[in-house]
Amino acid sequence: MPNRSSLPPTDATVGEVQQWLTDGHCSARQLIDGYLDYLQRVGRELNAVVEIFVDEAHLAADESDQRRSSGQSLGPLDGIPFTAKMNITTQLGSSDASSPMLRGFKAKEDATAVGRLRAAGAVLVGKTSCDEFAMGASNETSCHGVVSNPWNRDRVPGGSSGGSAALAGSHGWSFHLGSDTGGSIRQPAAFCNATAIKPTWGRVSRRGLIAFGSSLDQICPIARDAVDCQTVLQVMEGYDPLDSTSLKLTPSPLVPATLEPIRRVALITDGLGAGIDASIATAVRAAAQKMANQGIEIIERSLPHLEAANACYQVISTAEASSNLARYDGVHVGVRAESDQLQELYETSRHAGFGSEVRRRILLGTFVLSAGYRDAYYTRALAVRDLIRQGIDQVLEDCDALLLPVSPFAPFRIGERIDDPLALYACDILTVTANLAGVPALALPCDFDEDQLPIGMQLMGAHGSDHRLLEFGQRWQRWNDLHRALPEGSAR
Ligand code: GLN
Repeated sequence: MPNRSSLPPTDATVGEVQQWLTDGHCSARQLIDGYLDYLQRVGRELNAVVEIFVDEAHLAADESDQRRSSGQSLGPLDGIPFTAKMNITTQLGSSDASSPMLRGFKAKEDATAVGRLRAAGAVLVGKTSCDEFAMGASNETSCHGVVSNPWNRDRVPGGSSGGSAALAGSHGWSFHLGSDTGGSIRQPAAFCNATAIKPTWGRVSRRGLIAFGSSLDQICPIARDAVDCQTVLQVMEGYDPLDSTSLKLTPSPLVPATLEPIRRVALITDGLGAGIDASIATAVRAAAQKMANQGIEIIERSLPHLEAANACYQVISTAEASSNLARYDGVHVGVRAESDQLQELYETSRHAGFGSEVRRRILLGTFVLSAGYRDAYYTRALAVRDLIRQGIDQVLEDCDALLLPVSPFAPFRIGERIDDPLALYACDILTVTANLAGVPALALPCDFDEDQLPIGMQLMGAHGSDHRLLEFGQRWQRWNDLHRALPEGSAR
């Protein structure tokens, strides 16, 4: 008889945990209890988790155990714990986008992605902190407080999906849903040694994702490895009649073995030069060499307009944010301030509800869209966006993917950049291109620096090549076991 009370090793992936459950080493209820215990101790200590759903998770785990014992398991995610970022709506708990503006907001329905995962048996165990309205790169603008990086608690976990990454980087068994508008799943993944993919824009329904920049936003999985990210993506991707921008993927390339594997990778040299820490550039070059040793052809290429991408992103993302956030006026949506004057009610509600970074973005966005400045900023940024797309397409004419670092520098100290918005925006220089072009980008652990802080790299591919990238990520993770490393102290 297998010992039903033995829990899987802390670093076990979702795939391995599923096998563990199938082999009867423990029940879903025991697994979920073990994970809830970790959330209550480490998740709270890191301040990564805002809400934990103990009773509901127990119920869902018991249902999963019943299905398993009657031979009706729902597949690879049945009984697996997951969390959702605070800007993704869930029926359970609240969905406040880490903003005072939405304090206590309870959504009526699950986001489509969350609903699909729960229907596949995955167990929603909690909600994670993020930067306010997903605007940030350090998780320091959350109304729920600063989140710590599990590898060094004085450092930021990255942002805006900092809570999700802190959990994914410190424990296995689970996966987490974050979002990425300009790097918010990849940069925290890189900072916390996790694996994450920003899917092709439109691949995953945005219904239930609290909007920041609608032409850039995607819901994304973050987990221990590329296998788990693929499993999650397969469940949540696909057309959603309730999101008019979701893609009809027919046929969906679900079986990676049938995909043409990635053989030629373009190492983007502009991503390794000025403004990029030497330790990061060296690590990514070394990773390219490791790929070459495995038979991958590495070609050094330049990505034209890379240096213009961040400015372009700042204009487009703030323009869209100013429009998306116009609804929070205390009357239609959001907290309402006291006043019997309508104009004053709008103004005081917005002032009280939004933090300073969100206000800064709304002001910037309103400015770039205003009559007299629109052509000089917004319309021009749209033209640059086209050039960026074309630049990526050009590289992909004779290469299968682009390789570049995720972040130009290592996880920085809490408080180090928060008073310097430009220093924070510099975090995004290498990630925003994928969002502007709408292409998928996979973040993978690449190395550790001399302070034992994680370094991440990313692969961008053509529209719709998400599973091709994930298949490559799986190969990379068979060539080394960097992704299995957990910070000291997280072992049971
Ligand atoms: N760091 C970027 C920003 O602050 C990206 C945010 C995101 O992807 N949500 O805009």
